[in-house]
Amino acid sequence: MEEFLSQLSDTQREAVVNFTGPSLIIAGAGSGKTRVLTYRIAYLLNQGVQPSSILALTFTNKAAKEMKERIAVTVGVAQSKRLRMGTFHSIFAQILRAEADKLGYPSSFTIYDTTDVKSVIKAIVKEKKLDDQIYKPGAVLSRISSAKNNLVTPMAYRSNSGAMSQDAAAKMPMIADIYTAYAQKCYKSGAMDFDDLLLNTNILFRDFPEVLAKYQQLFNFILVDEYQDTNYSQYLIVNKLATHHKNICVVGDDAQSIYSFRGAKIENILNFRNDYPNYKLFKLEQNYRSTQNIVNAANSLIAKNKNQIKKVSYSEKESGDLIKVLRAYTDQEEGLMVAASIHQTILQDQATYQNFAILYRTNAQSRIFEDSLRKKNIPYKVYGGLSFYQRKEIKDLLCYFRLVLNHNDDEAYKRVVNFPARGIGETTMSRVEAAASAKGLSIWEAALNIRSLDSEVKDGAARKLADFAAIIKDLATEIVTSDAYNLALTIATKSGVINDLRMDKSQEGTSKLENLEALLNGIREFVDEMKRAEEPDGEPTLDRFLETVSLLTDADKDKPEDKNKVTIMTIHSAKGLEFKYVYLVGLEDELFPSRMSMNTEQELEEERRLFYVAITRAERRATISYALQRYKWGTPATCRPSRFLKEIDEQFLDMGDSDPDNESNSLLNLSTQNGGFTKNYGGFSNPYQKNVPASPNKITSTEVKTKLPAGATVFNEPIAKQFVECAENDIVEGVQVEHERFGIGKVITAEGDGPNRKVTVFFPAAGQKTLLLKFAKLKIG
Ligand code: ATP
Ligand code: MG
Repeated sequence: MEEFLSQLSDTQREAVVNFTGPSLIIAGAGSGKTRVLTYRIAYLLNQGVQPSSILALTFTNKAAKEMKERIAVTVGVAQSKRLRMGTFHSIFAQILRAEADKLGYPSSFTIYDTTDVKSVIKAIVKEKKLDDQIYKPGAVLSRISSAKNNLVTPMAYRSNSGAMSQDAAAKMPMIADIYTAYAQKCYKSGAMDFDDLLLNTNILFRDFPEVLAKYQQLFNFILVDEYQDTNYSQYLIVNKLATHHKNICVVGDDAQSIYSFRGAKIENILNFRNDYPNYKLFKLEQNYRSTQNIVNAANSLIAKNKNQIKKVSYSEKESGDLIKVLRAYTDQEEGLMVAASIHQTILQDQATYQNFAILYRTNAQSRIFEDSLRKKNIPYKVYGGLSFYQRKEIKDLLCYFRLVLNHNDDEAYKRVVNFPARGIGETTMSRVEAAASAKGLSIWEAALNIRSLDSEVKDGAARKLADFAAIIKDLATEIVTSDAYNLALTIATKSGVINDLRMDKSQEGTSKLENLEALLNGIREFVDEMKRAEEPDGEPTLDRFLETVSLLTDADKDKPEDKNKVTIMTIHSAKGLEFKYVYLVGLEDELFPSRMSMNTEQELEEERRLFYVAITRAERRATISYALQRYKWGTPATCRPSRFLKEIDEQFLDMGDSDPDNESNSLLNLSTQNGGFTKNYGGFSNPYQKNVPASPNKITSTEVKTKLPAGATVFNEPIAKQFVECAENDIVEGVQVEHERFGIGKVITAEGDGPNRKVTVFFPAAGQKTLLLKFAKLKIG
């Protein structure tokens, strides 16, 4: 144990061994908060605490898995397996299943994903004959979600004048009605959405004191990572569970609170002091992740936020490289520059692909980087976007599973009733749905009893519905006898799904079939893994598998074959992670900060925290890039560099090299100018040089006035032309030139005479360069 504790600093060790009572650990990025949490758990186990009495809440399932593995090294797998460790959603989904009957839910309740939820909302908007252009599913969902996360039930919502006046202001006065109908529909479908998992846990603990008491006694020690991003609903759950023993340890960083759009409240940290007045505060001030320049740059930026808890964060690592800023003419060029830089770094630093991450503000930015990495044969993985489980054929089969396990699941029913085609048309379905709504039944119940309900469903259609119900009931008889894999295989076969895809001989059909096979293989692995476990925590049932799938977070969707690849993800998903080299791309106003989040100071502060999170993911080098022109809705639009670039203390930035004599900087230094800024910093001969001291006087801030072109000219095709030697003064604005190393380019500005003539050229392959003609041997086209 001593040796184990020696891997911690003195302050970290204090935070580990003082494990009783309430503890608050507030510290900057990379200071070892997660490490302290992990070691504290290992230490608790070492002190004889039962693993099942430790509840640890993490931000992703992957983080929980990694922590468990780390703990297993110290205390053994058997102990670590029995820890209650995972995301809020996955832990409390399990508790809700165990206690479901108290709330009137089946224990096999379905967990609706965002697609299901939006589909329910759409159906309600249609049913109520509301304008679907105003009541857009996303907008309605975010209001309902925010109500739930503040524990506002549909009934309370109606009497909440604040919510009602907000709805009126947003021209959506019917939200309360939709919320009520939505809650009813989910309930009769035996379904909970993500927010319900938290809301219903709160209801369970509020209305069943004996249940709360049971879990209060069970969880002797509660630990929460990323506490700054808990919402009110999560805060209350933790609070209720902890009031009994008060052995609660939360770690967080207010500067990394980035989920306010999901209801996260920084105030939860501040409340901690009031809730547990005799709390111990641990401050971790040393950053063990990043170089000095990275930490200092991040600190200089976040200092611009008015709302923050003051704290120290320093690094004792090497000062490291400055934050390199790449300026591209177009979004496409930005992609190429980043790919070229990754390629070069791999060669120079002997880095591997998994050391790199490209982080952006929104998922839509991924395509350009995917294209450019593919061109360079650099393997990558993208997180977010459409996941495997959202593909049509996969979701169809998953919905069959859901319906077999929970017949009342309306969304699953609607999705598969006529797939494969059974002649049950839309008219029939809308009649069944109307009957179900009128009688407060699920679609399954309404369809079964359709003859006795007042409905216009024809006899023939009613028979088809009965046949469909018979298939599902028949499949349900297999639940008891089959394990998840065999049940899944039987469902895939007997439902006709596999056969339907087999008939489709197109390439698309084949690939869909392969996807189904991959899904079934995944289920088999899930079963094997659970059976192999020394102390299995539960049976490898199909609903268990479905739950794992529904609760995956973006960062969890890692496959083993994805190991050595460049990671492409949003900054939001990168929280808590670290990479040797980080590329933070699309640093343009309205993209980052996002156009949607720059209207108030609060919004801007959150965007700034997001920037802080991004840059502090980097261990060795952070690179920032932006483009001057980006395609928006099919047309090129001019962009301005992000205001955040100007907010970083310039002594930590390497804005590129504008020294015309210094083109020996290698192709790496692709962008050599400083667009949109008043200053241009030269003087760094080699941006990859190690140990560049972070001293301001090292920077020669020579002002170089560069005329920027109004709209950048883009070269998409190589220009097949003969290039000839030329007289210097022939090189004027607009002509095409060729450079030995940079290839073909176009002159943007030219000034001076004879050998002293200086030109700025944009090379599609190498970016923009300012060249002195007496050195650069240019040929003219
Ligand atoms: P974030 O705010 O980004 O979540 P964090 O505060 O949780 O960061 P960790 O991820 O725990 O920080 O630690 C950052 C890195 O520093 C990790 O690679 C960790 O292993 C390492 N580290 C932490 N403490 C020490 C230490 N005492 N000695 C050596 N390395 C350490
Ligand atoms: Mg952490």
